[in-house]
Amino acid sequence: MIEIEQLSKWYGAFQVLSDCTTQIKKGEVVVVCGPSGSGKSTLIKCVNALEPFQKGRITIDGVSVTDPKVNINTLRARVGMVFQHFELFPHLSIEQNLSIAQRKVLKRSADEAHDKSLALLERVGLKAHAHKYPIQLSGGQQQRVAIARALAMDPVAMLFDEPTSALDPEMVNEVLDVMVELARDGMTMMCVTHEMGFARKVAHRVIFMDRGAIVEDCAKEEFFGNPSARSERAQQFLSKIL
Ligand code: ADP
Ligand code: MG
Repeated sequence: MIEIEQLSKWYGAFQVLSDCTTQIKKGEVVVVCGPSGSGKSTLIKCVNALEPFQKGRITIDGVSVTDPKVNINTLRARVGMVFQHFELFPHLSIEQNLSIAQRKVLKRSADEAHDKSLALLERVGLKAHAHKYPIQLSGGQQQRVAIARALAMDPVAMLFDEPTSALDPEMVNEVLDVMVELARDGMTMMCVTHEMGFARKVAHRVIFMDRGAIVEDCAKEEFFGNPSARSERAQQFLSKIL
């Protein structure tokens, strides 16, 4: 579903990604971890065409993200993205937050978008809040809305960039529960997260990044089960977060 081939990217003279290669199959859940500044956010932004890159190739479901014939809004709709900060539209109600791109990008009718929005809000347990504004919801609720908003576009895959790291601890689980359910429903997911409980529960693979490179890319069982086989950097990292 997502193919990343020999991806390299520079900010000026600084190489932020070095020759990253990996594939994510349909229905696969991949957790990306690694120290701060290792390039995790940059990697997933490249997948969603939020960042340009100088070398390599990324394809989503066979379509290159840099193909000039591809409409960037359609591409971004096909790959849902959830950020650390929820980035809901503050001036729109929760229901409107879910409906607006369905109408503008996918050209759904108002009724169709509304019905889809309410169904998704129900799925994340927030149907009763549809008429409220983002500021009236807790951080955990806002992040669930952000997930529902991405799902409203019927994405072929979902990207998450530390979706729980800005939340108060008591709200982390309500967001992870939604993600676990999504994973169990077979969604293709690439998740930057340090929530190793989540990784253990639903990930198929774990990628460990360091200084712009993919240092480890292995099955979850292998990543957690045999630490001594991990690179020194991955071992150090794991010893700090586990
Ligand atoms: P991570 O998500 O793993 O913490 P990032 O992908 O955010 O890492 O950043 C990787 C590196 O690229 C960091 O050293 C960061 O300072 C640098 N970087 C990120 N964005 C920019 C930018 N817009 N311009 C220059 N350097 C950047
Ligand atoms: Mg980051």
